[in-house]
Parts: sequence; structure tokens; C-alpha cells
Amino acid sequence: MYNAEEKTKRGSLMKQFSQTQIQDYLFCPRRYFLSHIQKITWPEPVSPSFEKIEESNRQGKAFHLFINRLIQGVSYKELISQVYETDLNQWLKNFKKYNPLPDNAKIFSEIEISAIFAEILWIGYMDAVAFLPDKIQIFDWKTSRRVGDPKVLLNSPQTRLYCFLMMQNHQNFLNFSGNISPDQIEMVYWYARFPSDPIHLQYSAELYDKDLFYFKDMAEKLCYDDRANYPQTLQQNNCRFCRFQTFCFKETLLEDESLEDEFLDSELFGFFQQPDQDIAGGSESAQKNFESF
Ligand code: SF4
Repeated sequence: MYNAEEKTKRGSLMKQFSQTQIQDYLFCPRRYFLSHIQKITWPEPVSPSFEKIEESNRQGKAFHLFINRLIQGVSYKELISQVYETDLNQWLKNFKKYNPLPDNAKIFSEIEISAIFAEILWIGYMDAVAFLPDKIQIFDWKTSRRVGDPKVLLNSPQTRLYCFLMMQNHQNFLNFSGNISPDQIEMVYWYARFPSDPIHLQYSAELYDKDLFYFKDMAEKLCYDDRANYPQTLQQNNCRFCRFQTFCFKETLLEDESLEDEFLDSELFGFFQQPDQDIAGGSESAQKNFESF
């Protein structure tokens, strides 16, 4: 983990990638090229599906904000008094009732962790991290309408990058002494709509070894500058929910309502995040403070 000055100095000399770049590349290489290399700002088509996606993203962001405040020590009573939307209100109640954060842990909320690997500055923006004496848990809050498939999540860029970065950074956190092995790192996906059923994914030495190759390979794939290396996806269904559809095809593609729910759950994969959407505040919480719950 670099301080701001060092990161600025080093980061200005090299490319920086978060999970968003990897997800965009996997969704469609051309989308990655347009968003992150050409940096084209392109408006989303005006349609009911995109409005629903936008609304879903707005609620998700609001929920993350409330949980961050709760961990920072703002009282539950005060927060719930500010939430007038039914879904958000219920999610906050669910968090209070099924609070997934462990007791007796040092909790960090909305933190940024980075590491240089394969000449790339990799960055992860984590919703919360709990440091226990013999374990580190990385938490991600999900507001999607379905619980993710553990196998898909274990192989997702988010799980891989966050566990990989934590393995490289754990020594930099206060109050955590000694070396840890990868199997002491765990990623936890907690679903606001399914609060009693979080998904726990344990990292391992085998996964870490695979990730050393994976991120080296990704670094090569994401570093070309020319369009020829970034073809359009063959999954045309992706295009129906991509804001660049009017750029690539010069028309608005017909929406497929049967796919809408799947894409509304895009938070499972982050397909619709804007490049800087998941940049968090980077603040650290005090010791977990549940007196005010
Ligand atoms: S519209 Fe389709 S081909 Fe074009 S960037 Fe989006 S996903 Fe890729």
C-alpha cells in the first residue's frame, strides 16, 4: 500500500488497472478499448432497461454509503431516520440484524489497496476489511436480485484481484503482525436482499500461484494501444446492454426483456460500472463501534 505521494509519483509512470478494466475487457475487448484507451464518453441509450440499471446502481451506491457511515460510528438510529426508500430501509435493517462483520476485529471501511506487479499498478477498492488475529476477511456488499454463483465469484476479477492485493499488502496494516498464508484470506459477499446467506470464499496457495500468471497475462492483454487488439465481442446479447451500442452499430438495439433481470444483476459482475464508479473514499474506520447500533 503506497502513500498518496508515492502512488502519484509511481502511478504517473505506469498504467493503472482496477477490476473495472478487467471486467470491461472480459465483457467486450472493444468496450475496454473505447472506455479506457480512447476514453470516449458516450451517452447511454434512452430506454427503460438503462433507466432500471441506473436506478439499481443509484440504490447500490446509496446503500454502500450508509454502511460506510455505520462502520464509521454514525448511529443506526440516526441513519435509519434518513432512509425513506423502502428497499434501502429494509437493507439497512437486514444489515443491523445479520451484521456479517466479526467481533474483536480491526475493521477498515472503504479502503483502497494497491500493488505494483508486472509493471502495472493494480488497485482494489474494498467495501470493508476485517483483520482478525489469524485471518483477514474482505467484505463486499451486494444489492443484486440474486445471490451469485460461488464458482463464478471465486473466478471473478474482483475476488482474484482483492485477494491477490491483500496477499501482497497485509504487512502494511496496523496491528497485524507476522506473515500470513493465502488460506488465511477470505472474500465475503454479503447480499442485502439475502442477509442470512453470505458467500465465503477462501483463498489458497494454489489460487495465488494461478493469479500470478493471470495478472501477468492480463497486464499484457490490457496494455496494447491499437484497436486491432480489441475486437468486438461475439456475445451480441452483451451489446443490447452496452452504452456503446449506438457507437458500434449506429442504432439503438432492440432490448431483450428476457435478459433484463440478468443484466439488472450486473452488480454480480460489475459489467455496468463506469471506470471511476468504484473509487471509494479511502477512509479508514476506527475500531468497530457497535455501541451505537
Ligand atoms: S456495443 Fe457490443 S461490440 Fe460495441 S463496445 Fe459494446 S459490447 Fe462491445
